[in-house]
Amino acid sequence: MDNSKALPLAVLAEQFARLPGIGMKTAERLAYHVMQMPAGQVREFAQALLNARDTVHYCKICQNFTEKELCPVCDDPRRDRATVCVVESPKDISAFERTREYKGVYHVLHGLISPIDGITPDKLRIKELLARLDGSVSEVIMATNPTVEGEATAMYISKLIKPLGVKVTRLAFGIPIGGILEYTDEVTLYKALENRSEI
Ligand SMILES: [Zn+2]
Repeated sequence: MDNSKALPLAVLAEQFARLPGIGMKTAERLAYHVMQMPAGQVREFAQALLNARDTVHYCKICQNFTEKELCPVCDDPRRDRATVCVVESPKDISAFERTREYKGVYHVLHGLISPIDGITPDKLRIKELLARLDGSVSEVIMATNPTVEGEATAMYISKLIKPLGVKVTRLAFGIPIGGILEYTDEVTLYKALENRSEI
């Protein structure tokens, strides 16, 4: 794209190209598509971006996305705060909630350790997890996916937690290696939770 004159269309394409998985060609196609959308629809799109960014933030306790100070799980007095299930992303929480069997609380890491991609432990919400282990938590369930990064992250965090005298467990994955939590059916996920073992 010609950078000598920052035409609004070029600026728009450059914004799309900043999104993950969007190359410059796709970005230009999206920009041209926006030009064909009714003005009202474009306004709605822009407003939705701003609204989401301005009103959604991290839950003060578990780091899940929420519009309030606390997410619905952390805000629910019936949940067992002594058990914390550590997941990679907010999507994984939905998978566990669908089982309707898990009564504990969660902690969202927002990623997995992956040095090749520049994701070092400090980029994840690990220190926020450690800060929660103030004696009130008796078990941390490492529920990261059974991938290379998921296993490495589970091991890394368990080594930090065990010296604190907190039990660390791992899901018993009967699902294929590389299986993704969010696509696992409720029964399988519940079994993986029931049969978890200490690591
Ligand atoms: Zn929360």
